[in-house]
Amino acid sequence: MKADYFKSKKIVISAGPTYEKLDPVRFIGNYSTGKMGYALATELANLGADVHLVSGPTALSMDHPSVKLYRVESALEMYDICVREFQNADIAIMSAAVADYRPEHYNDIKIKKNEELLTINLVKNPDILATLGKSKKAGQIVVGFALETHNEIENATEKLHRKNADAIVLNSLNDAGAGFKHSTNKITIILQKGRIFEFGLKDKTAVAKDIVTCISENFN
Ligand code: C5P
Repeated sequence: MKADYFKSKKIVISAGPTYEKLDPVRFIGNYSTGKMGYALATELANLGADVHLVSGPTALSMDHPSVKLYRVESALEMYDICVREFQNADIAIMSAAVADYRPEHYNDIKIKKNEELLTINLVKNPDILATLGKSKKAGQIVVGFALETHNEIENATEKLHRKNADAIVLNSLNDAGAGFKHSTNKITIILQKGRIFEFGLKDKTAVAKDIVTCISENFN
């Protein structure tokens, strides 16, 4: 780890799930705990970074003086803050489990159970990681995550290129203890030019250290 690499660098991190509202009492969401993103935020803040943590709904708290926490619910809210804060940032790490789709219409009142078959139209959410990857300026670094179930390296590498990211942190659903419901994770980091780094199953705090070390050693 290069000493002082992260000192005073502005880093935008997305974490947790997003909730896509259907009506005043219901939403579409996922099981993301936010632990990976919060562990990254703490690790980077301890290394002197100016961290902007954009978090979907989680049970976690954050009270580090160098972490500014933005609490959001939906993918659109997360998108707005990430895009705004990335403009003058050095690094973005998108670890949130963003909903790919949101309900086309929001019902102001609770949806009644009348019909046997209820159809809800979903529309695609913007891809925050791809938006940052495509808009990044020279020197800005964009890191994404990928949760894959098959052809893991191939799919994650395709994501790296399609979203114009500098690194993809891959977790496989085939590895016990890895992924977004656990306190542990097992990752592979994929960089441009086919560079691949594999790590063992670890607590998410230790995984966060591996990710930041990999960034500091591979990007100037
Ligand atoms: O395409 P997929 O959802 O598998 O890509 C995962 C990566 O893309 C994660 O880094 C996630 O945070 C990011 N992502 C995003 N906005 C979306 C969907 C995914 O930033 N709408």
